[in-house]
This record gives sequence, C-alpha cells and structure tokens, in this order.
Amino acid sequence: MKEEGCRLCPRKCGVDRNAKKGYCGVGKDPVLGRAALHYWEEPILADERGSGAVFFAGCSLKCVYCQNYELSRGRGKEISVARLADIFRELQDKGACNIDLVTGSHFIPQIREALTVFRPSVPVIFNCGGYESEESLKTLDGLVDIYMPDFKYSDGALAERYSHAPDYPVVAQVALKEMKRQVGETTVGKDGLMKKGILARHLVLPGAVGNSRGVLDTLARILDRKKDYLSVMSQYIPFGEAEKYPEINRRLKPIEYKAVVAYAEKLAFENAFVQYGESADDSFVPLFDGTGV
Ligand code: SF4
Repeated sequence: MKEEGCRLCPRKCGVDRNAKKGYCGVGKDPVLGRAALHYWEEPILADERGSGAVFFAGCSLKCVYCQNYELSRGRGKEISVARLADIFRELQDKGACNIDLVTGSHFIPQIREALTVFRPSVPVIFNCGGYESEESLKTLDGLVDIYMPDFKYSDGALAERYSHAPDYPVVAQVALKEMKRQVGETTVGKDGLMKKGILARHLVLPGAVGNSRGVLDTLARILDRKKDYLSVMSQYIPFGEAEKYPEINRRLKPIEYKAVVAYAEKLAFENAFVQYGESADDSFVPLFDGTGV
C-alpha cells in the first residue's frame, strides 16, 4: 500500500489502512464473511459442484439497500494473505468449478498476492459492484478469467441517492471496457461452463425501469451481445437502510421486471439469464458466519 494512503477504488479516500479503516470499512488485512461452495450463481458458471465463493467484508460502494448489508459494512474475520491463498486451495480441493471472489475490489493487492502464492487451475471470477478503478483493475490483468460486474446505475442521481457515487455511470463504463479488454472473447468449455469472459449482472430496482434501460443500453454498447452473458436479476429485497427511502422500500413489481427483460430482448442480448418463475425471497442469501474462513 502506498504511503500516501489508499487510492485503490474510485473513492480514492487516501486513508492509511495500516492505521485505520477506509470508507470501505476495512483495514489492510483481508476480512471475510464466508468461504464455501455456493450453488446459486448462474448455471453457465458452475454445475452441481458449486462455485468456490469467497465473500469479502467491506465495500467501497455501500449501497443503502445492500442485499448483504452487514458484510458490506465490514463485519467478518480478519485473515492473512497466506490464509487467503490456502482458502483458494481448499475450495478447489473440494471440487469448486471456480474461485468466485465476491466484492474484493478493496483488497485487490491482497488478492493478487494470494493468487501468486496459489494460482487455481479453475477459472478465477472477479464478482464486483462495477464501481472499479481502471488502474486497479489493470493490476489483475492475467489473473482474472471471468469478470462479473453488477452494473447498477446509468442514472447518476440514483447512484448518488443510493450509493453516494454520482460518478458511478461514467466510472463503471470505463471499468467495464477495461474488463472486456483483459478477457477478450467469452468462451465456454466442453463441460458447458464459462472459462473466460464477461457475465454482466443487473439488479433491477423498484421504480427505476428507466435506470435499467440505460444500463442495458450501456452494456449493449460495450459488450458482445452474441457472446457475453447478461443476467437480469429480480430478487431485490428492501434490506439495510431501504426503509429510509420509501420508493425502494418494497419488492420489485413483475410489470417492472418484465419491462426490463423486454428491453433486453429488444437489444438482442443472445445469452441472457432471466428469473421468471423463481421466488425473490432471501433463501439465496448465505449466512456470513465465518464458514470456511
Ligand atoms: S479501497 Fe477503501 S480505503 Fe481504499 S480508496 Fe477505496 S474506500 Fe478508500
């Protein structure tokens, strides 16, 4: 970490993480909420063996409605980089189809170091909120096989209101281009699982169909609509501080979700996952109880 303080993510808050916590809520050592086989990622990523999901605590985005609220606010167990590398190895040994790094943007140097100690033979997924520093992403070039950003906002006013990040739409576009540059064409192996490329997600928010359409327009411009994957997610639940924001203090209406999916169809995304028929309940939120850490 540079002496002038941390500038890893677009917040560039400049905190000396050797001495205190940054805006992201964590110091210099990796903090994890859970590291375990995970069965709820999109089917192109993992079969019945599951993903080797490593859930990092803290977040540089801290959305008010975060679906993993306590974890994003930094609650977890502090570990060393050596232990992080061991966790990657353990998950691979358990048969994980991939190593799925969930919200690790504020630990990029530590992740890089751990991947140098143990380079998994299964794909490494960088699963993030999309609000990434281009400069930091460049340091992952060659280490990440699949980028999985949740592209949240095209509307800067919503990004400011819910994530205190009015620059999100611009920052996330630059980041997505860098992700695409690194991984190139999306490829799927003989086993039917994705080996390399981009799976962009978008969580549809209540009352924000226009925001979602703008996100899809952006994704359509940057991604390869025939090869890259898109996942339009309907499982929004009013978690965290959502009750302070009446317009998002409710579930998504089916009509809102259908409108966004129809727009994705209009834009001709060929590899799109949608969630019709699935219940948007909280049964897919794992317990962040330190399992596997
Ligand atoms: S990663 Fe954390 S400490 Fe570093 S700039 Fe971002 S918010 Fe600040």
